[in-house]
Order: sequence, then structure tokens, then C-alpha cells
Amino acid sequence: MYITGRDGMAVVKLDSGYNIGVPPESCSLMNRPVPVPSEQHEVLQDKNLPTLAIVSTGGTIASRIDYRTGSVTSQFNASDILTAIPELAEIANYHTIPLATILSENMTPAIWQDLARAIYTAIKNGAKGVIVTHGTDTMAYSAAVISFMIDTPVPIVFVGSQRSADRPSSDNAMNAVCAAAAATGDLGEVVVVMHATTNDDTCAIHRGTRVRKMHSSRRDAFRSLGVTPVGEVEYPSRKVTLKEDAVRRGTRTLALHDKLDPHCALVQFYPGMTPDLLKAYEGYHGLVIAGTGLGHTSTILIPPLKHLIEKGTLVIMTTQCMNGRVCDRVYDTGRDLLDAGVIEGGDMLPEVALTKLMWVLANERDKLKAAALMQDDLKGENMRRSAHGL
Ligand code: ASP
Repeated sequence: MYITGRDGMAVVKLDSGYNIGVPPESCSLMNRPVPVPSEQHEVLQDKNLPTLAIVSTGGTIASRIDYRTGSVTSQFNASDILTAIPELAEIANYHTIPLATILSENMTPAIWQDLARAIYTAIKNGAKGVIVTHGTDTMAYSAAVISFMIDTPVPIVFVGSQRSADRPSSDNAMNAVCAAAAATGDLGEVVVVMHATTNDDTCAIHRGTRVRKMHSSRRDAFRSLGVTPVGEVEYPSRKVTLKEDAVRRGTRTLALHDKLDPHCALVQFYPGMTPDLLKAYEGYHGLVIAGTGLGHTSTILIPPLKHLIEKGTLVIMTTQCMNGRVCDRVYDTGRDLLDAGVIEGGDMLPEVALTKLMWVLANERDKLKAAALMQDDLKGENMRRSAHGL
């Protein structure tokens, strides 16, 4: 039991694993044994197993309840995760790289650069796959940006959990084990591995440029958008099944492109949005708009967008719709946006377009070439054709 600093309530852990807050005066201390930390497991090196790198960045997968405040905080690094989940030692040997202990809402382009360099170095030093433990809130952004920053011959697997390790319904162990299985599999791309259903039986393997967190709390929160997942890992058998279009191990040659231009932004258009809001983006190098339907804003926003473009901002149009692609040649509004110099973003997810724009503008100074790169499909982010039925 702990008294929280915030509201003075006593936090009591129930036998079910859940925590309740009660007024401290209603508690009498019983003679309960002081909890001892769970048994520590050495991860033995087995030379018959491949070596993976685990880069830890924080998030719920590395968290537990802080009884001082009553909230979940990120406290573990990669070595702690290995110790806490002994099943991981049956799959591989691990090289642990503690990069950060942040909740992923605090992720920044500068940390993405450190992350890309750490992953690149681990692969260069012989890792047969890399696991990145990460908070779920912004994991899709990070998976997308790393997809652009690294050409990888081996799997780079992002994994997190929706519930911390000290909760009975925690998804951390199964997600981590499935991530390790995927990281030893025949993959050669950046993916996200998370619970596929509410049961503890399958994790989905999502392409890093096509995935989004679709639920704030469910364990099966992650979904591929515009495509089906590239594979799955069954649990507890750890059997990895990949679809035909999964990029295979060894297809790409290792390369790091670690520059990013953080002077880029993402805005969601909404009815009634006023032109003066766009003034805030003057001087930005790139701007992604999540427009309506086929890729629209109100006509009143077109002159200020044209002004931004003439001043040198590259403006990319994406859609708020979950599926489908931008086509600004159907309605007048779209044609006027194109005339103003807005670039169609195909079927890129808005958040993926933002990370791509940061990467493209850091690597290509010529605006026309940068616009062409934004319309290219580099890592499955902007498909020529949308998958049938999606
Ligand atoms: N806010 C947390 C984070 O993204 C949530 C989580 O990890 O699931 O770091």
C-alpha cells in the first residue's frame, strides 16, 4: 500500500491484481509479507540460437504502477524485460540497448535519429533481427519513420503492450515473445507485432508504414489499413506465417539515411477551419493536410495554402478516411487545390506522410524531386493500387 502524492489516497493492490484507491484512515495494516521482487532469470547464451538486438525506448511494455503516484510509469529497460520474460531465452540470444525510458507521447524526431543509428549499428554488428520496445501511442509513427530511415536486410520489429506487466490481463509477455519469433523469421522489413485478437492466441505482423492504433485500451488495438497484415505469429507455438508480399530476409542491403527535417507539420481539416490558422505554418518546409473524402479542404483555405506553397512549403494532401486514396481531379475544390500546387498523397496515412515528408525534405532539397519522391512508393506506404475489398 502507498499513499499517493496527488490526492492523498492510499493505493491498495487487490489479490486480483487490480488497484483501488481508498482514504488512508480506512486502512489498518495487517501482517502481510513484504512483496519480494520476482525471481531474476539469467539469460543464458546458447550458441545454436540466433542473436537479436533489443532496443528499449520505454512505454507500457517497460512500465509498472508507480504506487507513489498511482499512475503507470516507464521504468524498465531491455535487460529488465528479458529478465521478466524467461520464454524469450528459448528463442534467441539478445544484445540489449537501452535507448530511452519515455512514454511514447514524448517521442521526438531527435530520438528517432538516435533510434535509427542504434538499430543500424546493431544490424551492422551482426544482429539477425532487431526488436524495438516502444509505447503504443506513437509506435506507428516510429515504425513508419524507421522504415524510411533504414534499408534493412533483417526484421526490425516494433512491439509494445496496452497493459503493464503488473496487471493480470497484461499483453506484454505474449507480444514480446511473438515479436522475438517474428524477428527470427524470414522477414526483411520494419513491422509492428501486437495482439491480433482479444484472445491470447495470435499476434498480427503489420507493415510499419500501414499500421495504426485503432483503440485506446483493447489489447488488439493495432490494425493494418488499406492492406491485410503481412503475417501472423501463433501463440504459444510461436509459428510464424508470412504472406507472399512480405519482404523477405536479405532482399535489401543495409543502409542508414538518418537525416530528418523537423520543420514539418500535420493538420487535420475540419468544417469552419479559418484561414488565419494556416499562418502558423509560414516558414515550415512541409505540411501534410488530412483532408476530407478524396482530399479536400474548404475553398476558403485555398488562397492561404497557395501562399504557403509560393513561399516554399511543400503541401501534401491525404485523407481522413481510413481506406481509399486521394483524387483531387473529381471535384472543383480538388482541381483548385491542385492548381494552387498541392501534391496528392495517394493512399498514404496522414501520419506516415508526415514522417516521410520529414525524411524526404532532409534528403532532397529540390522541391520538384521531393514532390515526386512523396508520390513514389518507397516502403509500401503509397501503393499504386489499393488492395481488393479494402
Ligand atoms: N502512453 C503510453 C505510451 O505510448 C501507452 C502505451 O505504451 O501503451 O508510451
